[in-house]
Amino acid sequence: MNAPLKDQHGRSIEYLRISITDRCNFRCVYCMPEAGLDWLPKAEILSYEELESVVRQLAPLGLRRLRITGGEPTIRPDLSTLIRMLRAVPGIEDIALSTNGVKLPAMARELAAAGLDRVNMSTDSLRPDRIAAIARRNLGFDPVAAAQAALEAGLEPVKLNVVVMRGINDDEILDFARLTLEQPLHVRFIELMPVGEMAHLTNDHIVPSDEVLARIGELGALHPAKGPKRGNGPATYHRIAGAKGTVGVITPMTHTYCGSCNRVRLTADGRLRTCLYGDHEVNLRDPLRRGEPLAPLFVQALAEKPLEHQLLKLQVGGLRALSQVGG
Ligand code: SAM
Ligand code: SF4
Repeated sequence: MNAPLKDQHGRSIEYLRISITDRCNFRCVYCMPEAGLDWLPKAEILSYEELESVVRQLAPLGLRRLRITGGEPTIRPDLSTLIRMLRAVPGIEDIALSTNGVKLPAMARELAAAGLDRVNMSTDSLRPDRIAAIARRNLGFDPVAAAQAALEAGLEPVKLNVVVMRGINDDEILDFARLTLEQPLHVRFIELMPVGEMAHLTNDHIVPSDEVLARIGELGALHPAKGPKRGNGPATYHRIAGAKGTVGVITPMTHTYCGSCNRVRLTADGRLRTCLYGDHEVNLRDPLRRGEPLAPLFVQALAEKPLEHQLLKLQVGGLRALSQVGG
């Protein structure tokens, strides 16, 4: 198997996050406007066959790990068909899914049978009324039951992503951390990023991860932990003494981790983004539809991958939402 390609700064790139839709059944306050969204027309979105072709062409360059994301990937019909197609691509070792979890109880087993390895589930509250307020949709969703469904289907490790917002859900930090005491769940607290529409949120809502960890320390001594196996990302992990799971923090705002970035992104309309933020986008869809090879475009894009993101220089609402770029 080929070694992963390196970018211009020597970082090995083996991980592709694929957004398969810009649509969602939630409207999270930090991600999407409540109404008035212009969805991409179907013809602009890569078909499953096209997505498979992209992965097949990039795998020989050292691509090994995939994450299916969105928007909300579970609302695109026949997701398990795509998982099965990607699983069959030689060289792909790991396929993960990012989801809000609403459909996990119904879909977890089918996705696992199709070859999905694991899930990250976003959940910003454990309280039904608050989940509905943050997501601005009331779908009667129980995040703990959804995580259980994923565990029972063997989609391990199950990671729960919590975007912490001061005055909105930071009073649940300990409740989330307590989940890790009895269950093999990995809860990751994410610093709010000033992107997308952000509703009424401001930089004052950001809770630095050092503060999150200090608060969790109330539950017991925190020990640095190795992350759950097959992690690809920028989280740092800790274990409360005796806990079955771990707590982690992802710190895009207070400690950037761009130096170890190993990933690129594909938007639902087939744009390759080498950095989450910035205007480095390469159109793979049109060359793909013309039958042109993608490998040279990929190599060129990596040669131009920026050294670091510019989030810290931005005002709230300054950039495209994560739902649009495949967060
Ligand atoms: N719908 C899926 C989900 O919610 O997991 C996948 C897509 S969502 C855009 C991916 C991740 O981005 C979620 O964990 C979400 O919490 C995070 N996210 C979106 N906007 C964010 C923001 N402004 N700051 C921090 N995290 C954000
Ligand atoms: Fe949808 Fe995920 Fe964005 Fe929430 S964070 S609106 S679930 S895409």
